[in-house]
Amino acid sequence: MQTVYISEEKQVYPIIFEMNYGQLSSINCYLYKHGSKLTLIDAGLDIPEYRNFFEAQLAAYGFQIGDIDQILLTHHHEDHIGLVNYIIQQHQIPVYAYTLALPRLYFTEEYQIQKKTFFERLYKQYGCEEVAQQRLLKMQQTMKNSNQLKIKGTITALDHHDMLDDLQVIAVPGHSPDSIMFYDQQAKWLFVGDLVMYKGTTNALIDHDDEGQLLPTVMQYKNSLELCLKYDVRTVFAGHQQVFSDLPEIIQKNLARIEYKLNRLTKKVTEGNETILQLASAIYGERINKEMTLILSEIIGYTMYAERMGEVKRVVEKTGLHFYR
Ligand SMILES: [Zn+2]
Repeated sequence: MQTVYISEEKQVYPIIFEMNYGQLSSINCYLYKHGSKLTLIDAGLDIPEYRNFFEAQLAAYGFQIGDIDQILLTHHHEDHIGLVNYIIQQHQIPVYAYTLALPRLYFTEEYQIQKKTFFERLYKQYGCEEVAQQRLLKMQQTMKNSNQLKIKGTITALDHHDMLDDLQVIAVPGHSPDSIMFYDQQAKWLFVGDLVMYKGTTNALIDHDDEGQLLPTVMQYKNSLELCLKYDVRTVFAGHQQVFSDLPEIIQKNLARIEYKLNRLTKKVTEGNETILQLASAIYGERINKEMTLILSEIIGYTMYAERMGEVKRVVEKTGLHFYR
């Protein structure tokens, strides 16, 4: 059985489901118990295997679904919200997420249209609409399935610095615009969602703001990592991989990785790779066929970061954006 973390009258019960999910080795959620109050932080993936594992782990810890008093979500991604509907259909309890997560969790029509318009325009602007077709089709599919996917209960909006129980809400955009983490100052516990992982992969996914503009996600990610360093943390509970304690070291590795990726991109631009597709294939080779969406996201994110750092310049050409030193 998993280790239970204890600090005075509080406990954390990890629910770590090992599976290959992209490059990640597990999908995690956590039970946070303070006195008699039981909080579920994140809610895994909606597949039968996860559901079974979740219930078995709960039982092994001596709980059942009816014991959960509330659900907190670190962000809107499907591997963090999977069992919310399943739980609240059995047992009406409050669900909390960051303000910016609400339209995403409700799949409001306005949000979906804005998202689709944004990505169509973005891929066109960067001259990679053809290879991004699959992503756009998948997005359309998601819109069709939105009735099934959306959270069917009321979600209460959280803001930066809100307190919920003994947990402080801290906005950490970068992985997604609606990412938050939860900090228990007294226990020195940090629930980081997907901001930091033990084997740190920096994944700042491109996304848009309320006005439909591309967000500087790599810059946001970097700022959020630096913000993390300001908290005194004993134990880190992440959305994937193992629970860990050496947060500053892991963050330094992540920050170094961001600089490495910036330098690598700048070098490839210097070598004459001008377009997003040229850069993607110069950096990732064959891998682009398998992981196109993630790689485009990274290259677009890093060209924007490199521009802001004054390392590259963009030129608008007929076929899309080109980048030069
Ligand atoms: Zn995740």
